[in-house]
Amino acid sequence: MNTVLPSVDALLRLPGLQPLLDEYGHTCTANVIRTQLAQLRETWRERQENVPASVPATDAEWVNHIGTALRQKMAPRLKPVFNLTGTVLHTNLGRALLPDEVVQAVIRALITPANLEFNLDSGGRGDRDDLVMDWLREITGAEDATLVNNNAAAVLLMLNSLAQRKEVVVSRGELVEIGGAFRIPDIMSRAGAKLVEIGTTNRTHPADYANAITPRTAMLMKVHTSNYAVQGFTRSVAEADVARMAHEAGLPFAVDLGSGTLVDLSQWGLPREATVQEMVAAGADLVSFSGDKLLGGPQAGFIVGRRDLIARIKKNPLKRALRVGKLTLAAIEPLLRMYLMPEHLPQRLTTLRLFIRPQTDMRQQAERLLPALQAALGDDWTLSVEPMFSQIGSGALPVDALPSCGVVIRTADGKRSGRRLKALAAQLRALPRAVIGRVADDALWLDFRCLEAGDEAEFVAQWLRQHAPEE
Ligand SMILES: *Cc1c(COP(=O)(O)O)cnc(C)c1O
Repeated sequence: MNTVLPSVDALLRLPGLQPLLDEYGHTCTANVIRTQLAQLRETWRERQENVPASVPATDAEWVNHIGTALRQKMAPRLKPVFNLTGTVLHTNLGRALLPDEVVQAVIRALITPANLEFNLDSGGRGDRDDLVMDWLREITGAEDATLVNNNAAAVLLMLNSLAQRKEVVVSRGELVEIGGAFRIPDIMSRAGAKLVEIGTTNRTHPADYANAITPRTAMLMKVHTSNYAVQGFTRSVAEADVARMAHEAGLPFAVDLGSGTLVDLSQWGLPREATVQEMVAAGADLVSFSGDKLLGGPQAGFIVGRRDLIARIKKNPLKRALRVGKLTLAAIEPLLRMYLMPEHLPQRLTTLRLFIRPQTDMRQQAERLLPALQAALGDDWTLSVEPMFSQIGSGALPVDALPSCGVVIRTADGKRSGRRLKALAAQLRALPRAVIGRVADDALWLDFRCLEAGDEAEFVAQWLRQHAPEE
């Protein structure tokens, strides 16, 4: 029965195939034809007798079939989406969005050679960390700094460099699990360090730290409780106090600050979050933080702190394995330049602009767009403009929410809402540029905080083009 299907060569010789061959080339086209033939053969075998409807009947149908398969295969996989989840730093949607001037610097570094590890004064070898060292010192107040691929790598590297085969003291209230399998106890054991848990989930006292220090202790450590809050009858020990106890015992004190901000966010009406410079000032010998959370930059891990400790970290062969790439450094440089001029940050730093977008902005936008959205969805759905709360996300300020506004979609008759809302959410994800909202409380919530003016036209146009059918 296979003989009924044409051969790869016969299909490649079809005159109508030439435009596809011109666009995709022989290798790719032939591969797709082979895969398609194999699939059709498989369907045929399963159906046994008649020719399945999926087998093209004419030359033109074959060209069509191959064209569709080629376009599907070669379509972009990493696609832009509309993040209407209300979570600004959404880890699954790529966290921080980079300002255009940062992106331009990355592009330049990618298409031209640059002095990544080349000292232009001496003509000798340079250190990639040195490119931004003076700025990091000035901004954080730390003596020295080094950069790695992400904050998980930074924590692993700090522990492995300073605490291998030794003990690290951490409060039980801070044994964090971040999404994506980052757990402090696991990182600790992979780094070769022994975790010494102290205190209880809700309360840890200064004496807990003091009593845990032995000759085998390598460091005291605090971990930012990024994505949860311990509330009620609680006690934790301030960084300055842990630092003092560590230093009295001749030990370093490290802080995994997680999100890590370099500016006091409360000056823009945001909830207060401890800054990196405050940790340094409180006596932390090492502070690690992410590049793509509150900082608003590329994925990266920063370690700032005491010169002798940073030197030990940089000597660790793991540093070479975890070092930042050229793209990352090219982005970090203009990012830090922005932090040297903090007054301009609200206009220039994309993520900060989104965090501080006033609720009235989103409300006006939602009211402007509501009629078009309602018209496209039809009478089966009831749409309304309602206040809601956005999250900063990525474990930054997990409890504090930002007053926002957007469109809430409910079924008009309230029947089988759960199933229908799930189907609607799937339809919106299938739009050319997927719209990602949040289904909760019998409604689909579209938070407009991250829909900036420049994207509005595209958002509405594709929504109108797609007259979303019921289920
Ligand atoms: C987010 C976070 C990490 C991991 O940082 P990545 O940059 O995502 O690798 C580690 N520790 C804490 C406390 C965090 O909040």
